[in-house]
Amino acid sequence: MQYVYFFGDSKADGTAAMKELLGGKGANLAEMTNLGIPVPPGFSITTEVCTYYYANEKNFPPELQNQVEEAISKTEEIMDLNFGDPGNPLLMSVRSGARISMPGMMETVLNVGLTSKTIPGLIEKSGNSQFVYDAYRRLIMMYSDVVMEKAGGVEPNNGIPIREQLEKFIDQRKAEKGVTQDTELDGDDWKELSELFKTTVKDVLGSEFPDDPHEQLWGSISAVFQSWNGKRAISYRRIEGIPEEWGTAVNVQTMVFGNMGDDCATGVGFTRNPATGENQFFGEWLSNAQGEDVVAGIRTPNPINQWGRTKKNRELPTLHEAMPSIYDELDGIRSNLEKHYNDMQDIEFTIESGRLWMLQTRVGKRNGMAAVKMATDMLSEGLIDKKTAVGRVKPSQLDELLHPMVDSEAEVTATRLADGLPAGPGGATGQIVFTADDAEAWAKDGKKVILVRNETSPEDVHGMHAAEAILTAKGGMTSHAALVARGWGKCCVVGCGVLNIDSRSKKMTVDRRTLNEGDVITLNGTKGVVYLGELALAQVDLSENESFNRLMEIADDFRTLGIRTNAERPEDAAQARAFGAQGIGLCRTEHMFFDPERILAIREMIVAENEQARRKAVMKLLPFQREDFYEILKTMHDFPVTIRLLDPPLHEFVTLAEDQIEELAGELGTDEEKLKARIDALHELNPMLGHRGCRLGIAYPEITEMQARAIFEATAQLTKEGVNALPEVMIPLVGTQAEYDHQETIVRKVAEKVKNETNIEYPYLVGTMIEIPRACLTADEIARKAEFFSFGTNDLTQTTFGFSRDDIGGFLPAYLEKGILPEDPFQSLDQSGVGLLMEMAVEKGRGENGELKIGICGEHGGDPASIHFCYRIGLDYVSCSPFRVPIARLAAAQAVIENN
Ligand code: PEP
Ligand code: MG
Repeated sequence: MQYVYFFGDSKADGTAAMKELLGGKGANLAEMTNLGIPVPPGFSITTEVCTYYYANEKNFPPELQNQVEEAISKTEEIMDLNFGDPGNPLLMSVRSGARISMPGMMETVLNVGLTSKTIPGLIEKSGNSQFVYDAYRRLIMMYSDVVMEKAGGVEPNNGIPIREQLEKFIDQRKAEKGVTQDTELDGDDWKELSELFKTTVKDVLGSEFPDDPHEQLWGSISAVFQSWNGKRAISYRRIEGIPEEWGTAVNVQTMVFGNMGDDCATGVGFTRNPATGENQFFGEWLSNAQGEDVVAGIRTPNPINQWGRTKKNRELPTLHEAMPSIYDELDGIRSNLEKHYNDMQDIEFTIESGRLWMLQTRVGKRNGMAAVKMATDMLSEGLIDKKTAVGRVKPSQLDELLHPMVDSEAEVTATRLADGLPAGPGGATGQIVFTADDAEAWAKDGKKVILVRNETSPEDVHGMHAAEAILTAKGGMTSHAALVARGWGKCCVVGCGVLNIDSRSKKMTVDRRTLNEGDVITLNGTKGVVYLGELALAQVDLSENESFNRLMEIADDFRTLGIRTNAERPEDAAQARAFGAQGIGLCRTEHMFFDPERILAIREMIVAENEQARRKAVMKLLPFQREDFYEILKTMHDFPVTIRLLDPPLHEFVTLAEDQIEELAGELGTDEEKLKARIDALHELNPMLGHRGCRLGIAYPEITEMQARAIFEATAQLTKEGVNALPEVMIPLVGTQAEYDHQETIVRKVAEKVKNETNIEYPYLVGTMIEIPRACLTADEIARKAEFFSFGTNDLTQTTFGFSRDDIGGFLPAYLEKGILPEDPFQSLDQSGVGLLMEMAVEKGRGENGELKIGICGEHGGDPASIHFCYRIGLDYVSCSPFRVPIARLAAAQAVIENN
C-alpha cells in the first residue's frame, strides 16, 4: 500500500488528478513538479492515512514509517542537505491539505528539524543568527501550541493558552528595547527568548519541547491529522458542506526561507485579478519575510506589479521593480500555470537567496463579477470551450451581481468615516459588532450586523458568515478576511488603519469620533469606503455588462427549459423581462387587492350576505382589475402571462381590530354586530386548508366571472391596439376534475362573451395549478380539459409533508440539526417525495394530452438543484422571482450540460 507520494526535481509520484488521495495542495505540488516548475521537494501522506488514523485509535499504518524515511532520503539527496545533520541540516514544513481548500482551518508546523544540534550549523551556513533563532522560536511557538497543547489535549496549568504566554514575552522584550516591530529584535534577543520559551513550555505544559528532529516530525504529522477534527475545521466543514469522511492529507516539504536577508522575499498572487476578473497578474509580496507575514497584515505588503497599486501601497517598490528577473520568471510560471490548468490560479511563492520557489497553486477563489468575466474572457482567448464557460460560474455567484450597491449619490453627502481596501464588492449596511459570537447571536435575532475586527482569523468564520459584511483595521487584499469574504461573495473592507478598535469594551474610535456596538455604518466594498449611518443601497445595472450578457447568451444556447417570472406589478415584470424572462408563470391576483380603494370593495364582497350584494361589490373591482391586467399583459407583450384566479384565505382580508370593524360598518352602511358575526363566521381553524383557491370561485362564481371578464376585456383592448397579449388563465388549488371543469366552464363562457361583445378574436389558454397531491394522482382526468399545468410546489410541499408552510419555523431547526431533513423542503425541492408526485403528474397528464404545457411556479422554480430536477422530468419552463431569472437561465443550461 502506497501511503507516501514523493515530489521533487521535476518528477512526482502524484498528479493533479489525485486530489482525493493527496489533497488539493499535494496534488498540485506534484503537478507543478511534473511541469518542471521549481517546487521545494517533499512528500504527501495520503488522506487514507487520515482515515486509518481515526479508525485505529490514532495509530498510523505500520508501513508508514519506512515510506516516510525513504521519502526523506530522496529529499535529502535532491537538496544536498540532511535531516538532523549538525553541519548541513534540512528543515521541513508540515502542512494540511484537504481535497478542497479550507483556508487556515487546520494546523501547520514550520521549521521542523531545528534542534540544539542543528542550530549552530545553520547559523554558520546562513551567517545570520537572527534569522535562525527567529525560526527556532517560531518552531517552539507553533509546536507547543499545535502539537503539545491542542493535539496533545494538555491544559496549560494556569489556564492561559501557551501561545498567548509566549507572545507576551516578545511584547515585553520589545517594550524593554523601545521597539515596535518583531524584526527589530536581534539574534541574541531571539536566542534568550527561545530559552525562556522552552522553560515556560515545560512549566506550563508539563513536558519538554522535543530536541529530536524525528520526534518533532512525527509529532507534527499527528497534530496535522488531528486538526482535521479541530473545532474550526468542523465548523467550516458544516458551513461548506464538506463530508467528514474525506479527511486531510499531510504535506511534508523542504523549508525555503524568504526571511534570510534582503535577497529573500515571499508573496502570494492570482494569475488574474480575483475581484474584477481583469487579465492582469495580481499579487502582493514582502522582502525578507515569511509567508504568514503577508497574510497577517502586520506589514503593508508591496504590490507585485503596477496593477496592484493602491492608495496605501503606492510608495512601495513592486517586485517587478525590485527583482526584475525573478518577476519575469514568476510571470512566465503564471502564464504556464494558466495555460496548463485553463483556470485562474492562486499561487504562493518564496524567494530564497535570489532563487524562486513555488509553494502552492490552486484554483483561485473569485467573486461573481470576476467569475463571469474570466469565464467569457477565457472562452474568447480559446482557453476553454462554451460548456466549460457555462460551468465556471456558480448560479449563486450571479446573486452577487444582482446584489445591492451603495447609492453613489447618497455617498456624496454621507459622512465618510474611513478608507480601506476594497476586498469584497457590493454594499452593505448594518449595526456594528466586535466579536464573531456577537455577530452570530445578533443575526439570529434578525439584526443586520457588520463584523468589525482588527483582523480576522479562522476562529471568526461563524460570525463572518452571519454578518452582512466584514470590516477590518488591518490586512491586505489577500488577508484572511479578504479571502474568506470573496469566497462567499460578501461585502468586505480591510486594512482600514484609522480605526482604533477596542473589542473588549465593544467600541471603536475613528479620528475623534467614538462608535459603540449597535451603531449603524455602511460599507462600500467595491471602493473600500466606510460611511457613518445607513445609506441607500441600489441595484447594479447588468444590461450594460458585456461579460454578463455574453454568459447569458451562451447559457441560452444550451438550455431547453423556458424561464418565466412570478410577478404582478408591471415594473417587476419589466425588470424580469430585462433579465431575460420569457413570460409570466404566475401573476398572483390577490396581491393586487391590498390597495386602500380596492380593499374596501373586497371586504364588502367577502362580508356580503347574498349573491346580489356580492355581485354588486365584486363588480366594483372590475375596472381596477382590467387596468391591472392591461398593464401587465402589455409589459409582457409577445410572451404568455399566466394569471391565477383569486387564491387567498379569506380571513386575510378581514382580520380587523374593533375600531376597524366599526369603521368598515360605517363605510358599508351595515350594522356593526351583524358585521362582527359575519367575520366570526369566516374564522377558520386551519386557513391554509380552508376556504381558498378554486373553493372561493366555486362558492362565489361571480368572483371568477369578474376576473375572467377583466382579463379578456384587457386582452381585447390590447389586441385592438395591435399588442400581442397572450393570457393564460390558471385555476388554483384544484384537487378534482369536477373542480377544474366547474371553473373552466365559467372562464370559457366569459371569454366567448367578451369576443362577441367586442368582435375581437384573441388566443387564450385555460389550465390549472397542480399543488394538491390528489391533483397529481388524478392528473390524467384533469388533463382531459386543462391546456396547461403549473406545479405550485409551495402548497404541494405543504400538503405532501403535511407541514404548514407558515409554521415550519417551529420545528425545522431541530429537523435540520438532527439530520431528519437534509434541507428546508420549501427552499429546495424534496425530489424523492414531492418530486415523485410531480413525475407522476407529468406522466399521467401528458399521457392524456400530449400537447399539455407544464411548468413550475413555486419558490423552487428559482432554486438551481430544483431546476435540474425540473429539467430531468421534462417540464417546459420554470418560473421564479425577477432577480432569480439570470440564475435560472444559468442553472437550466448547466442542467443540460450535466445531464447529457
Ligand atoms: C404554490 O403553492 O407553489 C404557489 C405558487 O402558490 P402560492 O405560493 O401563492 O400558494
Ligand atoms: Mg399555492
